[in-house]
Amino acid sequence: MEILSGLNLEEFEALTEKLGASKFRARQIHNWIYLKSVKEIDEMTDLSVKFREQLKEVAKVTDTKIKVKQTSSDGTIKYLLEYPDGECVETVLMRFDNRANLTACVSSQVGCAVNCSFCATGKRGFIRNLNYKEIIEQVLTIQRDTGLKVTNIVFMGQGEPLLNLDNVLKAMKIFNEDFQIGARRLTVSTSGIIPQINKLAQLDMQSTLALSLHASNHETRAKLMQIENKYPMDELHKALKKYTDKTGRRITIEYLLIKDLNDTAQCAKELAWYLKDIKCNINLIPYNPTEKNDYQRPSNNSIMKFKYLMEHSGKKVTIRLERGADIDAACGQLRGKIK
Ligand code: SF4
Repeated sequence: MEILSGLNLEEFEALTEKLGASKFRARQIHNWIYLKSVKEIDEMTDLSVKFREQLKEVAKVTDTKIKVKQTSSDGTIKYLLEYPDGECVETVLMRFDNRANLTACVSSQVGCAVNCSFCATGKRGFIRNLNYKEIIEQVLTIQRDTGLKVTNIVFMGQGEPLLNLDNVLKAMKIFNEDFQIGARRLTVSTSGIIPQINKLAQLDMQSTLALSLHASNHETRAKLMQIENKYPMDELHKALKKYTDKTGRRITIEYLLIKDLNDTAQCAKELAWYLKDIKCNINLIPYNPTEKNDYQRPSNNSIMKFKYLMEHSGKKVTIRLERGADIDAACGQLRGKIK
């Protein structure tokens, strides 16, 4: 049985040709899948009943199930999706009242090999890569379930996107061309996989690269992220510089603020020094405590002081709004409760 979600226009054309229909039918099906997000072939009302019956014999819209859905009082929706092999990943839809955008946070792998100490997903280890169809299925599921059109996509769910780069790039192409989401509204995050950052620097990627830095010095970063031992901050700095020089694009530095660990004035000074020649914006993320470790959220006063010090260094700094505080919204929390 062919799964329609994830096919590109040429593949739809091959399918309609096999069924003896025109290329125009392929375009219609394509629009029903990506722009109108239908759940069933029967909803494709501009196709004749006869053709829909023919199509239903060989294809269906999706084979991915919503296993759990949680809705926060702030409108954030978190899904645990199940693929046909029984593996599950999390996908989150975030809405911001003051902005017209609907942001989907998608997963790129089942589990993750990077094993950051603050992350529930890393505890499970790496299970497998998602193929590009499984990645785009996450956004289609959100659109089908809510009836809304996703406007922004961030690869910040489970997994390290740059360790599944081919599938991530294929999915981004489909998000851009088939979902008609602007490349600049797509963000890929990484824990700092240097060879892949170098590879991205060679591509003319209009999307945003976000680096999860989370520390201002090697010792603290190694405590938080084992990847620091493989790709240390000084080497990472060279790769970031090369990336921004080559692409001219500003990167986003993600910095998880954890009480008494990386939130001091000294850390802010070190961070400002580290980033002084990197074209970037800084996104501060106050830690959202989980039951699995002892890290704590800094006080609002410490957060604002850190922000002030970084702004003083000439960078644009934002504080990530907390979304879904009343549901299991941190990466891997929902998945962790199921198995
Ligand atoms: S934070 Fe991201 S890179 Fe680190 S273990 Fe979790 S999923 Fe992997």
